Amino acid sequence: MKVVAATSNEHKLKEFREIFPDWEIVSEREAGFSGEVEETGETFLENALIKARAVCKATGLAALADDSGIAVDALGGAPGVYSARYSGGDDAANRALLLHNLYGVADRRAHFACAVALVFPDGREVSAEGRTEGEILPSERGGNGFGYDSLFYSYDLKKSFGEATDAQKNSVSHRARALAALEQKL
Ligand code: IMP
Repeated sequence: MKVVAATSNEHKLKEFREIFPDWEIVSEREAGFSGEVEETGETFLENALIKARAVCKATGLAALADDSGIAVDALGGAPGVYSARYSGGDDAANRALLLHNLYGVADRRAHFACAVALVFPDGREVSAEGRTEGEILPSERGGNGFGYDSLFYSYDLKKSFGEATDAQKNSVSHRARALAALEQKL
């Protein structure tokens, strides 16, 4: 199956390809799409659908989008859908703000959540969600991955996502679980 990954995030593109080695997954750039899609939804699922619909319409190819983020129990689920825009700065600034907001907080439970949507040129839409549980570490551990990976201690892996190999992260991640559920539906 040939699909365009509706993301400009190289890490997500790499994970899509690792999780679906049998699919031909092209980047937005390779499909000739250079626009920005505004994420106006209030849920991960709404945002994934918004991105996949826009890129499918623009390229004429089946489009696969993910919207994901981290939700911290003690912060009422924040940063959630605002994970990428939490601090207004880059990933390092987002991690610093999260640590600041959890300073002295004992309950550090959190989960990563991901919604994926696959939209076909004939209008068919298939979507699925996945999550993975853990807690926010008091300081960063490991240099692998991206975003909040180095702050997320995975209950499944018993180490941080920043310390995990790609294959280990993909065996338990929210994105892998959402994509497995999507594949099941297909
Ligand atoms: P999106 O591109 O709007 O889906 O934003 C997702 C944001 O959530 C990213 O910028 C990361 O900060 C965070 N995030 C999502 N998935 C992961 C992950 O697998 N590891 C680390 N951070 C993630």
